[in-house]
Amino acid sequence: MQETVHVIGAGLAGCEAAYQITKRGYNVKLYEMKPEKHSAAHKSDDFAELVCSNSLKSNIITNACGLLKEEMRLLDSLIIKAADECKVPAGAALAVDRDKFSAYITEQITNNDNIEIIKGEVTQFDVNEPTIIATGPLTSDGLISFLGTLNIEKINFYDAAAPILEKDSIDMNIVYFGARYDKGDPDYINCPMDETQYNAFYNELIDAKTAPLHEFETVNVFEGCMPIEVMAKRGPKTLLFGPLRPVGLIDKRTGVKAHAVVQLRQDNLPGSLYNIVGFQTNLTFSEQKRVFSMIPGLENAEFVRYGVMHRNTYINGPKTLKSDFSMKDKPNVYFAGQITGVEGYVESAASGLLAGINIARRLSGKLPLELSNRTMLGALSGYVGNFSGSDYQPMNANFGIIEPLNERIKDKKQRYEVLANRALDEIKDLNEPNII
Ligand SMILES: Cc1cc2nc3c(=O)[nH]c(=O)nc-3n(C[C@H](O)[C@H](O)[C@H](O)COP(=O)(O)OP(=O)(O)OC[C@H]3O[C@@H](n4cnc5c(N)ncnc54)[C@H](O)[C@@H]3O)c2cc1C
Repeated sequence: MQETVHVIGAGLAGCEAAYQITKRGYNVKLYEMKPEKHSAAHKSDDFAELVCSNSLKSNIITNACGLLKEEMRLLDSLIIKAADECKVPAGAALAVDRDKFSAYITEQITNNDNIEIIKGEVTQFDVNEPTIIATGPLTSDGLISFLGTLNIEKINFYDAAAPILEKDSIDMNIVYFGARYDKGDPDYINCPMDETQYNAFYNELIDAKTAPLHEFETVNVFEGCMPIEVMAKRGPKTLLFGPLRPVGLIDKRTGVKAHAVVQLRQDNLPGSLYNIVGFQTNLTFSEQKRVFSMIPGLENAEFVRYGVMHRNTYINGPKTLKSDFSMKDKPNVYFAGQITGVEGYVESAASGLLAGINIARRLSGKLPLELSNRTMLGALSGYVGNFSGSDYQPMNANFGIIEPLNERIKDKKQRYEVLANRALDEIKDLNEPNII
């Protein structure tokens, strides 16, 4: 009888891992606690739910996340295939219709004859069976407790989501469509603010009421997903260099460059919903309505989802895992996704891809596929398994973790292009059946 891998969690990492395992001839039992139980951020009953932004970030290879996506495309990633199929206009970014995206993946997984879906929360598992834990940053408390009994160290931080609005409720006489520096299609809705409007908005934002966070006395917030009100408190100019930066945005109707610009990105394929870019927040819902309605054009905006903030959990990757995502002291158990300390939708799916390939290779008696630090996927998995500092923090794809070039190329774009092509050549060379 063919061996079975247990994959716990049907999120981005779990679905990608399950797909990669079945491609290599093994069966999967995929465990998912939805619809019986939802985390505080998960709302839909489908698999691979995007809990906040609908953007999988840049699609160009000179961007770190764009390179990671291209590497994953070459490795036949289910998640990137789904994103390509379900994309919505978003300039150089790969943004998706979140419902179509999840439905596409759910259908692919459900119709896969080698995947058995088991609904319900998992609170323990057999460490001697081939298993991947892909339960994400909001892993249920029951399973977290069980991981504690295996002496796995967990770390917490806070992460927040941004609100989504109905397009019909936006005042299109005030806002305008455009792309920064006119790069790509003019897909973003821009809400221009003059200095008086910005100052009024800023003063309300920094004093607005936030929702209480009970679990910890000190709140460790992830820099890459900082609530807008926390960022604002760093000083009146911080937002002007961050999510409200006006550079490269001219209102063609007036020729005016605004003091600040809030951007909205399309959130679904019909274009009826837009999210506020960079506005992840922990303000109370009534304060979000009050303060964000001060943004020009959003005076009567209808919020279909308010922003929320959640505690995220990840394990101490380098203490627990090897860079093939298997446990150092329990070789049948692998981890994948954000719970390993990679950060982001694409990064989570990427680790699922590599964990899936590697558990299948283990079952066939092959050595793990260890990609070099010259690839983005190899650099990320290397970070998880080999980080040697004392403060292990979640990591996005970025060029800083990639092995530098021998030659010095001063121009950043040119340098990234050479790094990206070197990475893609290495991945292309793997595409021989006897290697993966
Ligand atoms: C509030 C919030 C906002 C975020 N915003 C962004 C963003 O805008 N952009 C971005 O790139 N990243 C964002 N992230 C980070 C991260 O990319 C996502 O959380 C991503 O979904 C992680 O993928 P994953 O597969 O590891 O986990 P998930 O996609 O969360 O999947 C885990 C699955 O496991 C299930 N599960 C959990 N516990 C159990 C159990 N005990 N038994 C069975 N099933 C279980 C869950 O129901 C879920 O379906 C955000 C995270 C959070 C929490």
